[in-house]
Amino acid sequence: PPQPDTDLQAFCEALVAEAKALPDSGKLANYIPVLAEVNPYQAGLAVATIDGQLFSAGDARTGFSIQSVSKIFGLVLAMNRLGDSLWKRVNMEPSGMPFNSIMQLEWEHGIPRNPVINAGAILVADVLVSHYSSSKTAFIGFIRQLAGNEDIFVDDKVFRSEKLHGNRNAAMGYLMKSFGNIEAEVPKVLDQYFYQCSVNMTCEQLARSLTFLANKGVQPNTERVICPRRNAHRVNAILSTSGMYNQSGEFAFTVGLPAKSGVGGGIVAVVPGFGVICAWSPRLNEYGNSYLGMHMIARLTEHLGLSVY
Ligand code: GLU
Repeated sequence: PPQPDTDLQAFCEALVAEAKALPDSGKLANYIPVLAEVNPYQAGLAVATIDGQLFSAGDARTGFSIQSVSKIFGLVLAMNRLGDSLWKRVNMEPSGMPFNSIMQLEWEHGIPRNPVINAGAILVADVLVSHYSSSKTAFIGFIRQLAGNEDIFVDDKVFRSEKLHGNRNAAMGYLMKSFGNIEAEVPKVLDQYFYQCSVNMTCEQLARSLTFLANKGVQPNTERVICPRRNAHRVNAILSTSGMYNQSGEFAFTVGLPAKSGVGGGIVAVVPGFGVICAWSPRLNEYGNSYLGMHMIARLTEHLGLSVY
């Protein structure tokens, strides 16, 4: 991987300016009112390297709803807690279906295709609820520890709104429960899942918090083992094939990095051996990925030659 230099700071700034000048495109998530109220024209970019440098530009210190990016944190916790038996309950294949699809779940007898579509993340939430005495505290505590920041919070307005509009996710929870693949009571599992989606973080915080995935499971600054090397590899593998919704194939083709996006407009991309990129901009393309976020990550990756392929 390339060695970061001061040019990277200037390049990040230029990329945000370039992205903000692109023709207007994409639209805000609107399945809950609070996400539709966000200023659509914000854009931020942060790069945290495993040797401790942080480059950031634009709105990289503005908090946003991390939404599905939270699926990474839940997955790491569940893998650590359950070990290989997790993979009897959730698969590791790309779905080729929208992130909130239910059909496949019935065909496949309540076994979600992978842990980063909604059904899989709801299953992961069940693991946390069933295997931690205080799963919400454990979850937010894990993120705060990874980011080295106790101020990271769950946006209560988003949380309440998610619960009010969560019928489709509830349907998936009950369907999995009917197949015997959910241990806890479904409302408790959904509460955990929506809590996870409602975490508010900045690009800088997200990039920093995930550097262990670029460093074989070890948090670079503290040298703490966050997960075994094998799990870091597995998370990256799943993100490579399934992290960008139905655009995962195209993302691998054009960018070539393990990545996860969320409908809040955040995208994180892991560069093994180098660091983590986080881009955020709220307007989404037809697949639900951030329009400007995709542009910034593609340009940065191309410029630095970061593709893992
Ligand atoms: N809260 C959203 C849902 O569960 C998250 C979707 C996403 O970011 O992909 O539907």
